[in-house]
Amino acid sequence: MSKTIQSACHCGNLQAAMTTDKEPGDMWLHSCQCDFCRSHNMRSLSDCEGRIEIRVRDESRLNRYHFGMGMVDFLICENCGNYIGAVQEVDGQLLGIMNANLTENEGKQFGEAKQAFFQTETREQRSARRKDVWTPATLSIASVP
Ligand SMILES: [Zn+2]
Repeated sequence: MSKTIQSACHCGNLQAAMTTDKEPGDMWLHSCQCDFCRSHNMRSLSDCEGRIEIRVRDESRLNRYHFGMGMVDFLICENCGNYIGAVQEVDGQLLGIMNANLTENEGKQFGEAKQAFFQTETREQRSARRKDVWTPATLSIASVP
């Protein structure tokens, strides 16, 4: 039975919805230990067999932040500062993760995130990992903010 997990930044400018067949406790949930993710207390949620739809109301208030190897767009709201998730295109397919903390009840239903250390990976290893575990995604911008 598929269900949809909704999330939104504090002001509502950025919204994400994940469609999944998995139970909350069975989803991929990791807390990356890089300084950026730790500063947001990030818990990254994914289901490689699901789908993520990210919607942006006002693109002028979307910060596609890049750091490190610059492979990923970290999607941050410029109104409220929340970090809704991240996307990268791999082999022509947009893939993403979303921030479990911005889902209902702060995403407590997903349980404890596994600590993850990705900093030693090469570019190729990163793309391969994301292809395995990130979720096929779409990002759409509202035509009228
Ligand atoms: Zn916001």
